[in-house]
Order: sequence, then C-alpha cells, then structure tokens
Amino acid sequence: MSKKINLKTLSRDELSGFMEERGLPNYRTDQLLNWIYARYATSLDEITEFSKDLRSRLAEISTIGNLVVVARQRSSDGTEKFLFSLEDGQTVESVLIPDKDRLTLCISSQVGCAMGCRFCLTGAAGLIRNLRAWEIVDQILSVNRLIAPEKISNIVLMGMGEPLANFDEVVEALKRIVLHIGISKRKITLSTAGLAPKILELPGKAPDVNLAVSLNATTDAVRDRIMPVNRKYPIKTLIEACRRFPLKPRRRITFEYVLIAGVNDSPEDARRLVRLLRGIRCKVNLIPFNPHEGSDLQRPSRFSVLAFQKILTDGNMTVLIRESKGQDILAACGQLRGGHTSRKEESGRSGAET
Ligand code: SAH
Ligand code: SF4
Repeated sequence: MSKKINLKTLSRDELSGFMEERGLPNYRTDQLLNWIYARYATSLDEITEFSKDLRSRLAEISTIGNLVVVARQRSSDGTEKFLFSLEDGQTVESVLIPDKDRLTLCISSQVGCAMGCRFCLTGAAGLIRNLRAWEIVDQILSVNRLIAPEKISNIVLMGMGEPLANFDEVVEALKRIVLHIGISKRKITLSTAGLAPKILELPGKAPDVNLAVSLNATTDAVRDRIMPVNRKYPIKTLIEACRRFPLKPRRRITFEYVLIAGVNDSPEDARRLVRLLRGIRCKVNLIPFNPHEGSDLQRPSRFSVLAFQKILTDGNMTVLIRESKGQDILAACGQLRGGHTSRKEESGRSGAET
C-alpha cells in the first residue's frame, strides 16, 4: 500500500492536480484549502461540508498531517511559548506575543541553526534539519486553532533557524501564509543573519514581506567573532545588498542589534553604526542581550543602552529598544532551542567558554 499523502504538503496547484488525477472533483480544491487554512481542520472527518463518500475516498489516499503541541508555557508578561513535535520526532518552538491590538507569532524555519552565532542558544545545537513549507505554516495553523476565536495578526520569522538558509521552503511558506491564511505581506517580517546573495534573491521570488537584518556589530573583526557568517559575507557586502534591496514606499529595513556588554556597545560602535546605515531607509531595533546558560556574555547596563540609543537618535535614526518578552520561560530572542541540548551540554562540559 502506498503511503497516504499529507494534503498540507501540497501547494494549491499540486492539490488541484492531485484531485484531478485521482478522479476527485477538482472544484473542491478551494473548499479543501479553506477548511485547512481558515478553519484549521486537522482531519478529513472534520470537513462536514463534504459528503461521507467524498471524505472516505479522500481518506483512502490522503490525510491532513499536523504538528503536535507537546508543551505550552505562559510567561508572566503574557507571552506564550509552544513546543511542537514533528513527524520524525524533532521539535521546534514558536512564541506568541500579544501587544496592544496585535497578536504576533514568532515562527521557526529550521530545527536548530547552522550559523553558530555566539550569543544565540538556537545556534548552540547546530543545524538538525530544514523545516518543510507546511511545517513552517502549520505552526500558525496550530496556534490559531488553539486560540480561536482570536487570530494571529502578525508573523515574524525570528524563531529557530536562518530563514534564508532554507530559501525555497520559506518562500513557499510565505506564499501560503499570504494567500491561504490571508495575513498581509506588510504584517510579515523575515529576519536574516545576513546571507547577502539570498537577500537579493527574495524580490521577485517571494511576496514582498518586511526585511530585518541582524547586524549586531560595526566592524568585521567583532562580527567575524560573534557571527561566523560574516567571514563569508562581510559587513560591506551585507550593507551593499541592503542598499540594493528594493523597498516599497513607506517601507523600511529593520536592523537588529543585540547589545552585548564590552563587545559591541561602545559609543564608537554607535557612531560607526550611524555612518554605516546612512542613506538606507531603515530603523534600528536595539535588543539588550538575553542571557542563557552556556554563554558568559553579558547584558549591558541600562545606562549604556540608553547612551547607545541617544547617539543613534542624535544621528537622525529611528531607534527602538526592544526588551524581549518571555524571558522567564526562555521564549525571548536567542533563547529558543526546541528542547534540544547544546553541543556543550552533550559533551558534558560545564560553564561557558569565551
Ligand atoms: N536567524 C535569524 C532569525 C532568528 S534569530 C537571524 O539571526 O536574524 C532572531 C533575532 O534574535 C536576531 O536578530 C538575533 O540577533 C537575536 N538574538 C539571538 N540571540 C540573542 C540573545 N541571546 N539575546 C538577544 N537577541 C538575540
Ligand atoms: Fe541562527 Fe539567527 Fe541564532 Fe544566528 S541568531 S544562530 S542565525 S537563529
């Protein structure tokens, strides 16, 4: 018996082709999509709009696959973290962040991450595997199903993984999020550690969602050290790609800058940052480093964060200090690891290295 096909793995065209090939009514394609993406059906039985006969014919050859929520934790600030298990037993996390009239879900694009940034817990386990498009999208469907009648309004690809290192699946997921779930492109942000050529491949291939770039340093010496990807695409190459990135009117690139005490938080860094970003329509998000075990990096004092910010605002830049939420449940930026242990923990070493 051949394996049943998970309908969520199919794009709209593939689903329509599948229906046709199997002699099923092709005009049902959009209804099926609606049940999956707008009514969050997790099994064919739920699709009561279809006759019993159609449901059982579909069930012979297909299923609706789902990520399984294995843990749901709530932070004292209202942030919630969801741990999902995938069909092969791997796990990923998503974080739901309520804020005024928005409900933002921070989703993962990979199990682990190969980029190895020194300040990030996700990077500590290395890359385990890429997520498939449907696994990226299903984080949203699962959470929407759990919080109904509320609904996620904004998406950030800032969870586990480097989205542009899983380019094709992420592009397909973005298409489905816009087309089938109906979240506007303006309410979706993709964050990258700076894979310069891939940044320039996005326009034309993916819906034009917002771009965020994790810059985190102003010299190659420091960036090489804390973000190894910089050795391949140094700051000049990355900034050049950002300058060439086509921006719609009223859109801006977000530059994320994790402030780490004594590493990248000096007034000189702030002045260099102003010079680097001059002429790019952008805003800067300063994220004071979120500590986690296994890293001896330090969060700067409130005073130096504010001093850094002031130099940027004096340089006419738009700057926000982004206090990550959910720190008490390890849901803040850089604290996700999807239940995986880091290489350091596995090898039984205690304490952090510098
Ligand atoms: N891989 C992508 C998206 C996921 S990381 C990227 O790097 O952009 C999301 C954000 O969390 C990045 O801006 C990263 O710089 C930041 N981050 C990672 N570890 C952090 C930590 N320990 N404290 C604060 N921010 C962190
Ligand atoms: Fe990967 Fe982003 Fe973490 Fe770097 S900061 S290790 S790119 S998830």
